[in-house]
This record gives sequence, structure tokens and C-alpha cells, in this order.
Amino acid sequence: MSTNSSSTCTVQTPTASAAQESQRIVTVIEPITVQLEQELNLEPDKLRVAAYARVSTEQDEQESSYEAQVDYYTRYITSNPHWELVGIFADRGITGTNTKNREQFKKMVEMALAGKIDLILTKSISRFARNTVDALQTVRELKAKGVEVIFEKENIHTLDPKCEVLLTIMSSLAQEESRSISENVRWGKAESMRKGNVYMPYGRFLGYRKGTDGRPEIVEEEAKIVRDIYAMFLSGMTVRHISRELTKRKIPTPGGKEIWSTSTVESILSNEKYKGEAFLQKTYTADYLTKQKKRNCGEKSSYIVRHSHEPIIDPEIYDRVQDLIAKRRPFRSQLRDRHAFSSRIICGDCGGFYGHKVWHNKSGAYDVWYCNHRYNNTEKCLTPILREGEIETAFTAALKKAGIPDASYSEALWREKVEKVTICQDRQAQFNFKDGTVIKVQI
Ligand SMILES: [Zn+2]
Repeated sequence: MSTNSSSTCTVQTPTASAAQESQRIVTVIEPITVQLEQELNLEPDKLRVAAYARVSTEQDEQESSYEAQVDYYTRYITSNPHWELVGIFADRGITGTNTKNREQFKKMVEMALAGKIDLILTKSISRFARNTVDALQTVRELKAKGVEVIFEKENIHTLDPKCEVLLTIMSSLAQEESRSISENVRWGKAESMRKGNVYMPYGRFLGYRKGTDGRPEIVEEEAKIVRDIYAMFLSGMTVRHISRELTKRKIPTPGGKEIWSTSTVESILSNEKYKGEAFLQKTYTADYLTKQKKRNCGEKSSYIVRHSHEPIIDPEIYDRVQDLIAKRRPFRSQLRDRHAFSSRIICGDCGGFYGHKVWHNKSGAYDVWYCNHRYNNTEKCLTPILREGEIETAFTAALKKAGIPDASYSEALWREKVEKVTICQDRQAQFNFKDGTVIKVQI
């Protein structure tokens, strides 16, 4: 463990050098608050010291450094007669992904805040916390309780007044850093998905709960409802019919409401998780700070994981239902397809359809289209409200991009060409033409 003696904040660094032995003692008894607390203890002359180590489990090379760190700190602390070893806290985990891998860290901070640790040694800020923001917050909490943290690499002793300047600089860097963390988190999630980790919004996901091993576990009484829905659909019932039936039976919706919507039934009938597969990264976090989610319209990779968990619906039955949905869809949309845009414009946020509304203002009435979930109580979609003219113009632009420059919007051409259009929050429209062409235009 090398230390940087050229730092502006050199006080006493925990090297094993005998020449610095006396200096080291001065450091550790400096804080008055610590001394006062020490008087209450059985061994008031000894400072209770802990160390924190953390490495990634991803590389064997780092595994050895994990063992090395634990070994180093154990010998280092026990060899100091003025120190009492409280413990070496060590977490193995991928850096920057989540806090779950930091059980030991949490335990250590808890103990320190409870007055059981006086000094914490750690190699560097990056080892200590996921990021500067976290590091600063923890350091400040500990400082308030008189607990010192020594970052060896940065040579920061948090109770040293000279290091306050450094802490301030750190905090100004923290904001900048949160941007790069966002990238790391995204990478970590992608990695986790690649390994097939399945996420479900358990709170409102009918049929599964989070098992003790963190993987999806079937809730039998809910699974029965899911199977009933599939069976009803296969028996020839329409989605609307099924939703009425469920409401009549007083079965609560996945969100805990009384009235079932057709879109809820539709989403249960077409969710691949019920056949034990997972299509990952349907949505992604577009903005780390606001945690805003966007539908993945091809900007990010997505993954299909087969046999990712125990199915509720037999895959064969699931596939039959999908075939039926596809077969019934044209028929169903013919019935309610008074407008060419009906059942063609899809919300990039929730995957549901845009609905038609007539809005009024001083100059009269005009037609708008927006996601049917836009004004829902929960999970509001943020995809844009579009005027009919805007959709027509976008279609003309898409035709141009598709190599049909002289054509412009007509209802007949729309019906002939458009399979579906997906609208994203950033007003990007993805046209899927019936011939398989995919065109993106900005609305
Ligand atoms: Zn929506």
C-alpha cells in the first residue's frame, strides 16, 4: 500500500515504517470527541480500528488483491499497540452497480455510528464508496460522531481540518461524477441482463413474487387467474369479454383495482414472462438523475432469455394464444377502425395504443391523438400529444425516406402501407411498413 506523501494534506500516513510510528500515535488520539468517548470504554487508551476493503468478483487477479487487503489490514492494525482491531469489513461485488453487495460496509458504518469504532482505514475513496457523493455523505455522518476515516491513496484524514478543503473539492466534483456513474450503472445492468437476471415489477405482476433466492417464484392462486385468462381467450372469448368477466368475478386487477381494462388483459396475454422467457431491456433509464424511463426503440441492445424462470403458461399454449391474437387483430381493428390511425399508433412508453380525442379551443375543434394511459392515475405516459396534421406530415416524410418522394398522405395510402407507428418521448416516430421497411422520422 503506497501512500502519496506529496499530497497537500499530508498528516500521518499509515505506512509500516517505524520512523513514522510516533506520528501515527499523534494522529489517532487527536480528536477530542473521540477521547471523550474513549473514557467510557474499558480500554480507554486503545483506539478501536476497523478497515474496509472492496473488490470486484469479476477478476481473479482482483480476488488475490481482496485476500491481500484483508491480510494487510489485519497485520497492520494488530501490530499497533495503541490500536484494537474491531474487524476487517470486506465486500465483494461489482463496483457501481448496487448497494446490495455492500452488506459489510453498511454494518461497519452502523457500528461506527453506534460508537463502536473510532477509526476506519481504507485504501481509497473509490474502494470506500460507490461514488464521491456517497463517500462524502458517509464521511460527514461519521465525522459528526467523531469517527475518522483515513483514505490511504488520497492521503485524507477526515478529522484533520486541513483536509476539509479536499472534502469540499470532492463535493464539487461529485456532481460531475454522477454522470459517469450513470454510464457504469447502465453497463452493470446490461451485464446482469446478459447473464439472464430477470426483473419483474412484482408489486403489480400477477402470478409471480420475488423468491428467497431473488428469482421469480409462482404464486399459485394468482397463477390460476392467469391460466384462466389464457383459457378464456382460447375458448373464443374476446379481450373485452374477459375483462368484463374478471370484473364480475370480483377478482382484483394486478394494480389492486376493481375494474379490469382490456389493455391489462391484453398485456397478460402477451407477456412472454408467463412462458418462462424474458425479453429484457424493453425500457431503459434515459436520464440517470431523473430516473426517467424510455421504451427501447432500438437504441439499446435487448436480450431474450429462454427458460429464465418457471413458466405459468405452457409455451405451446402461449404461442397458440399469440397466433390467435395476430389472427383476431385485423378483424378486431376492422370493427372499431373507423379511423385509419386507430390501433396503428403505439405509445413508446407503455406499448399501448394512441387514442383519438377531439379537443376544443376558441377557434373550434381539432383532432388529437395521445396514449390512452396519458392521464391515468398511475404510471402516466409521457409520449407527446399529436395533432392529426402532424401525423400526416410525419407519414409523408417517412414515405420520402422510404424512396417514394412524390407521395403524400392519403388515408388509402396509409392503410396500404402502415403496419404500426411507435411514438417515443423525444417525438421520434418509428414507422413499420407492411413490407417490412422501418423508417424513423422526427415529428
Ligand atoms: Zn403509453
